[in-house]
Amino acid sequence: MIRRLISKVFGGSSGGGKPTILPLARHGIRREHIHPCALKVTRTLNDHGYAAFVVGGAVRDLLIEREPKDFDIATDATPEEVRQCFRRSRIIGRRFQIVHVYCGADTIEVTTFRASQGEPEADEDRVTAEDGLILRDNVFGSQTEDAARRDFTVNALYYDPENEEIWDSHGGVADAKKRVLRMIGDPEARYREDPVRMLRAARFAAKLEFRIDPATRAPIAKLAPLLERIPAARLFDEMIKLLLSGHAERGIHQLRAEGLHHGIFPMLDALLDDPARKAFLHAALHDTDERVRNEQSASPAFLIACLLWFDMNAAWHKLQDRGEPAQAALFAAMDQALEQQRDTLAFPRRFDGTIKEIWSLQPRFEQRSGARPYRLLTHPRFRAGYDFLLIRSKGGDAPQELADWWTRFQDANEAERAAMLQPAKTGEAKRRRRRGPKKRADEGTPNLA
Ligand code: ATP
Ligand code: MG
Repeated sequence: MIRRLISKVFGGSSGGGKPTILPLARHGIRREHIHPCALKVTRTLNDHGYAAFVVGGAVRDLLIEREPKDFDIATDATPEEVRQCFRRSRIIGRRFQIVHVYCGADTIEVTTFRASQGEPEADEDRVTAEDGLILRDNVFGSQTEDAARRDFTVNALYYDPENEEIWDSHGGVADAKKRVLRMIGDPEARYREDPVRMLRAARFAAKLEFRIDPATRAPIAKLAPLLERIPAARLFDEMIKLLLSGHAERGIHQLRAEGLHHGIFPMLDALLDDPARKAFLHAALHDTDERVRNEQSASPAFLIACLLWFDMNAAWHKLQDRGEPAQAALFAAMDQALEQQRDTLAFPRRFDGTIKEIWSLQPRFEQRSGARPYRLLTHPRFRAGYDFLLIRSKGGDAPQELADWWTRFQDANEAERAAMLQPAKTGEAKRRRRRGPKKRADEGTPNLA
């Protein structure tokens, strides 16, 4: 209550005056730099008498000469009005209602300007908890208000493609040039409203190679525990954005530097403090960043498999030491590792099947005699399992020679493959004869998907 009053009187997070309108010569972003679908959307909205801007990440990325990931639009038309302008469009979301406008294979997100903090309290469309956390936020506002409720100055730039102008209320263009990430308004109040902004600060600093302004950085160490109140699914989404940003390695280090990993990556301390785990994590993140940058696929399940591999492996060995047969121990260890992390890392169960397959393929790569390598090649997750093996070998967790063998075996012709096979171990052959033709415990990885 008192904070609201202060913020009303002194500006606070609802501050931000009229925008400075910067012409092309001051920013260099031409209409042609905007995705044709986004241009079509702003034009159509303009034709219907509405204001429409390209906002957020796209303007920021163009300013620092990077290729934008997507082009979001902000407008003064309500979601319903936007929907009426486009035949192929749909209103989605609850906390933030937005409109998806479909354009060929692309989707453009259109958001209505929202009001900043400090609105009348008894407002049905805005629900704020006692301590300032925004629970629901669908109060429409002006362009100025919309700019003030965004997180960082460089994320609050509005590009008008018709006039090739940037509307800048918070000095975002200057900050982009200085490569500074600065929170709009009072940083502490803004983190309390939405603690995820702390993770976003770490993510953008890593991704953009920006320095976090000292005043923006200062409250994070104290407020990090607020992340415990964020729903698991939202934390998971944010974590995946960081991991699949193409800058995961820097992002993970930034998270830890800010003390933000406890709630979201509790295993990070163990991963970074133990040299063996650190080398593996480095290999995994480096590989993921390369893949993302080369526009190859990188899946959340694969990453989770990497993050939990050591825990799973330790549990597996422990169970075997206690006398459990290899495969039963493997399955118990996989469940154990996944369940233990579920509370904090909070990844959806739909990834479990893939994660378990990637893990349970690993011992099968060691079997290089008879028909087994051929069978492994036809496994639907062979590729993911092999990529995982490569990371293990780069991280010192599997012999380089083993990874090289599989690299060669895949591309070899029939005669070469036959020559590569290793002789069956004598003990193994005897055991087999005794057991009959049944599959060995560690061979029969079922399809777990
Ligand atoms: P990226 O290129 O990684 O997508 P982005 O800046 O577009 O970066 P988004 O998460 O897509 O980031 O969000 C789009 C815009 O919405 C941001 O630029 C910012 O202005 C605003 N925004 C998103 N999340 C928040 C938040 N938690 N608090 C305030 N503003 C936010
Ligand atoms: Mg975006």
